[in-house]
Amino acid sequence: MPEVKILEEVCKGCGLCCDDVCPVDILILSPDTINSSGYHPTVVTDMKKCIGCGYCYMICPEPAIEVYK
Ligand code: SF4
Ligand code: SF4
Repeated sequence: MPEVKILEEVCKGCGLCCDDVCPVDILILSPDTINSSGYHPTVVTDMKKCIGCGYCYMICPEPAIEVYK
């Protein structure tokens, strides 16, 4: 079962991974969470839909996303 892990403390909240990159549209910037740097980090809305494509990992400018297949 593919899984994506967002390192919330590393995320800079740029939103690149949330902007039409994910083919199953499960990444959003959390409206409720702020990390210690003051950014709203990406969260996964429905992990079971992840297909492990890695597109989010590839577009992220930070080492904030890990994908497990
Ligand atoms: S690995 Fe692919 S399907 Fe899974 S969250 Fe990232 S972009 Fe979406
Ligand atoms: S692309 Fe990376 S740094 Fe930007 S919002 Fe997504 S996880 Fe955070």
